[in-house]
Amino acid sequence: MSKYLFKISQLEKYKNFVDRLLGGKHAIILQSDDELLLDAIYKFLIMKCECLDENKPCFICSNCQKILDETAVDVELFGKEKNILVEDSQKIVEDSFVLPLEFKSKYFVLNNFENATVQAQNKLLKVIEEPREFDKFILLVSNLNQVLPTIKSRCEIFSIPKFDNVELQKIFDYKLNEGDKFNFACQYSNGNLTTLNNIFYDEKFVEIYNLCRKILTEMRNSSFVLEFSSNIIKNKDRIDTFFEILTSLYMDILYIKEGKTNLVKNQKILNELLVLSNEMNELAVLNIIKEIQLASQKITSNANFAGVIDNLLLKILEIKHLCK
Ligand SMILES: [Zn+2]
Repeated sequence: MSKYLFKISQLEKYKNFVDRLLGGKHAIILQSDDELLLDAIYKFLIMKCECLDENKPCFICSNCQKILDETAVDVELFGKEKNILVEDSQKIVEDSFVLPLEFKSKYFVLNNFENATVQAQNKLLKVIEEPREFDKFILLVSNLNQVLPTIKSRCEIFSIPKFDNVELQKIFDYKLNEGDKFNFACQYSNGNLTTLNNIFYDEKFVEIYNLCRKILTEMRNSSFVLEFSSNIIKNKDRIDTFFEILTSLYMDILYIKEGKTNLVKNQKILNELLVLSNEMNELAVLNIIKEIQLASQKITSNANFAGVIDNLLLKILEIKHLCK
């Protein structure tokens, strides 16, 4: 998890960001949809506070090592393996009275906090409002909307800035002959290191991506449905990736329609998507996205796989045809 942390800590943007956090309240919310970045920033922050060396963080002292290995007794992690429940909040409340053993402060790192139950969030209100002087709460959140307003108002909220492609190039390790692979993953990741990492190491991703792209550009009538659906069935175990990519391509068309071409994930196929966006109105694109969601729900509820896929492809054709 921490393999990018050292390089991130060398980037001016994140050095400055963490310096700003040092002046923050005892309870902060770090917001980002990039899991690897969230993980790196909270560790960077704690290392900066607890490193034993003059040049903080040194990455080698025993304190830095423990934070990196997630073995520090004064850093309690919640919400990683499973969502935070009221029992976890109870433990946080109890432990918040215990003095730190090794560090200057005691840190409660609450991962995926937006998935904590309402009861679990409520249970923390008091301890966040009236903390012991040695307690620090770091709430990691990808979607702020799911966090109770009463929690938000008691914390200082920091949105972590996204990477740009140059920064991603600096921190991501790839071999010389992997340049094309990196560029594709980078363009598709939209400044998100977690997405980049997932795509780069996912052998199947490009194959499924190309399949989705063909469905958009080449599927002109129902005679194409059989071939496409058999290719989708071949990738049955990756059906979530298929739905995700297909949705994101139609989202790209919506962005183009709204004039937000900079949000299109893969800028290399911008022209291709521009042509498609001229052939469809906004409502048609929205309806297709709805059909994809519906198909995804049906598959989760164990409906006939091939039937659902055939039906989805036919629906896409029908919606496209209607708006001509
Ligand atoms: Zn250190």
